[in-house]
Amino acid sequence: MKYYLLPFKFTRIGDHEVFVNEVGDMLHAPIGTAEQIVNRTIEDPELYKSLVANFFISEIRIPALLDVYAERLAEKKRFLDDYTALHIFVLTLRCNQNCIYCQASSRDEHCAASSMSRENMRLAVQHMFKSRSQYLTMEFQGGEPSLEHDLFLYGIELAEEINQTEHRHLTYVLCTNSINLTDEVMATCKQYNVLISTSLDGPSWLHNQNRGKQDSYEKVVKGITKAREILGADRVSALMTASELSLNYPIEIVDEYHKLGFTSIFLRALNPYGKATDNADWEAYTNRFIEFYKQAFEHIIELNKQGHVMIEEYAAIILRKLLTPWCTGFVDLQSPAGIVNSVLIYNYDGYMYASDESRMLAEENDFTFQIGKLSESYENLVYSPKVKEWSKVWNNEAIAGCSDCALQAYCGADPVRNHSTQGDLYGFRPTSLFCKKNKAIIEYIISCVIDRYDELMPIFRNWIR
Ligand code: SF4
Repeated sequence: MKYYLLPFKFTRIGDHEVFVNEVGDMLHAPIGTAEQIVNRTIEDPELYKSLVANFFISEIRIPALLDVYAERLAEKKRFLDDYTALHIFVLTLRCNQNCIYCQASSRDEHCAASSMSRENMRLAVQHMFKSRSQYLTMEFQGGEPSLEHDLFLYGIELAEEINQTEHRHLTYVLCTNSINLTDEVMATCKQYNVLISTSLDGPSWLHNQNRGKQDSYEKVVKGITKAREILGADRVSALMTASELSLNYPIEIVDEYHKLGFTSIFLRALNPYGKATDNADWEAYTNRFIEFYKQAFEHIIELNKQGHVMIEEYAAIILRKLLTPWCTGFVDLQSPAGIVNSVLIYNYDGYMYASDESRMLAEENDFTFQIGKLSESYENLVYSPKVKEWSKVWNNEAIAGCSDCALQAYCGADPVRNHSTQGDLYGFRPTSLFCKKNKAIIEYIISCVIDRYDELMPIFRNWIR
């Protein structure tokens, strides 16, 4: 049997060997198949045909359809053509909640000198339009950004004014805890079609405990209801963050989202920044989060089987990478990494940062990922020597551990996390908890596709539509 091996990676998941090529196409076969492929002793003619058809092996040195394969790889990396599309404006660190896991080092709502100046907002909006992306998302964060309504409105009005000549597709997102959605804030959201991204951690007793305020849940639900009435239900989404306490209640959290009429949930782990770093044992947390994720995921599947729409967003991202030819645009699972390539942060302090987590590190006096002052030119900032250094470690195709990992096409690189948890930008995958969590969840989703194909694929197809 004569053929050439094309680039692919493989791993063992359950009773299968799983093969993944460079564009993320996956095949599975019985254990021992990798050895047969390498030794040119493939026994199953159907498998042989699949391997040829899906660019794992080739009967000629250069496959006839190599250009098609190259175009598919380009499509998977299409997010690079778009340049930086997500622009995060941290309006203030002031906040009206006291979340036990706050990753943004927020300050009391009455604290002075924690908000962006109008001059820095002007510079930031001008920088945003220097990105060549036709699709610009202007995301307002904090602290609690709705506490700075005038600045929020000023930023949007500036963007609208500049866009009279730029003609880009603008999307506005307000990341809010929904407690301060005043008539004034809602009028701005209505006028400019702003999306509301809010946060809800689960039932009232759990949410209030996480937020450090006893009436938080009631106020959040009131805010969500008001936002839905004014903007429409499809303009309001919610995120949960799994505190240590939350990990005991996967079913209750999913049921709360369902009860409140949400049709999706993003099961999101804590990240080791801000107050969340107080969490004593990150390894134990990660192990518990993986179990939490699986239990919540199975409950979501049950809801879907009962005819309800409920999408788990993290799984949907992995499934899109696995089952479709498109890139997802999700900056946390991207190679090259999302920092600078897909996201830039304009911080309240007048500096540009590489990512949301980068500005969180700065609150702990770690300025590694501070790019420079907003008063500098866009070119000097995004092509700075610092950014060029990061570019050496932001591809998981080129870093040890990831470069031969079978899950590489579905995962991403994160030099900021490597730096904050392991002390260097390159990172060490065998002890990386970011790697451990991603690997466990991606393998779980792959095993669902393989072992429960007939049961789950109708649901998964709805999720990725
Ligand atoms: S971080 Fe881990 S799971 Fe992800 S590609 Fe790298 S080695 Fe694989």
